[in-house]
Amino acid sequence: HAKHVEGGGVCVFSAALETAVRADRAIEVALQGSTLEDELTIVFQPIIELASGRLSAVEVLVRWTSPVLGEVSAADFIAVAERSTAIHSITRAVIRKGLKAAQHLPDDVAVSFNISACDLTSATTLAFIRREIERTGIDPGRIWLEVTETAVMANAETAAQALQAFRDIGVHVALDDFGTGYSSLGYVQRLPLDKVKIDRSFVAGLDGTDGDTIARAVITFCHTIGLSCVAEGVETPSQWRMLQEAGCKHAQGYLFSKPLTLDALLALCTEWERQRPWGARQRQRGAA
Ligand code: C2E
Ligand code: MG
Ligand code: MG
Ligand code: MG
Repeated sequence: HAKHVEGGGVCVFSAALETAVRADRAIEVALQGSTLEDELTIVFQPIIELASGRLSAVEVLVRWTSPVLGEVSAADFIAVAERSTAIHSITRAVIRKGLKAAQHLPDDVAVSFNISACDLTSATTLAFIRREIERTGIDPGRIWLEVTETAVMANAETAAQALQAFRDIGVHVALDDFGTGYSSLGYVQRLPLDKVKIDRSFVAGLDGTDGDTIARAVITFCHTIGLSCVAEGVETPSQWRMLQEAGCKHAQGYLFSKPLTLDALLALCTEWERQRPWGARQRQRGAA
């Protein structure tokens, strides 16, 4: 159905849109009634250092099983939570659980958290993170905070200041999903960042002919301005090899491991200590 609105514009309501709006509303209601601290869990996706194959970090990813809606995907409920203060409760719960889990991991494994645009500019979130770091005694250098390119672009000036405020407490900041937000390279160069996470869509393109050139150029650009790269969504051995050749520092993806529970992650740590499946030896064999 099309409906004329004031000012002469036409507003189109499709069935799909209506369904999406209703689903979002259901998520909103379920979030309000939930005891988030109990219903949220976290999983960890290994991030490897490509040169050595060692586990260098884990990305903390939130999971929500609502008693009303069942399992809701992170992308879906985070987007809804960002429209209210629910996002702050989610961020705090995830950070609290993540830092607790970090105490069980080797000291040289970094822990990477996703934070939303509204967390980035919140003095309360910054203070909370600083306090939790002090309370748990974790080395702040072990903590990476990922903020999406789109979140940062929403307000460039404020974002730059906020990123610096986080770096001032000793944590590392990474630009997440780089390549999806259409920000200019000059703009990225001016941001106070430590790392860039290259979006899965670029990595997927590595198997094609042109994609290879683009991904290499992006990696070279990041290195030129002094940022280290993390490739996301690595799914095939050929993507893995091309990233190594391009000098990309870190990578994550289903090829290495899916997101894991803490117990499964600890088992993987032990296994990778005994035999490093993504190490140099394997690389030579793979390249032959
Ligand atoms: P993201 O930060 O870019 O996280 C990567 C997403 O890609 C994760 O989805 C992960 O499971 C998935 N992934 C990892 N490797 C592969 C691969 O090889 N192939 C494919 N196809 N996918 C892969 P997930 O866990 O569903 O999270 C989706 C998004 O939700 C995240 O994207 C992030 O933006 C957001 N998110 C997750 N946890 C949190 C959180 O605690 N706080 C905030 N603010 N956002 C979060
Ligand atoms: Mg992320
Ligand atoms: Mg990402
Ligand atoms: Mg993403």
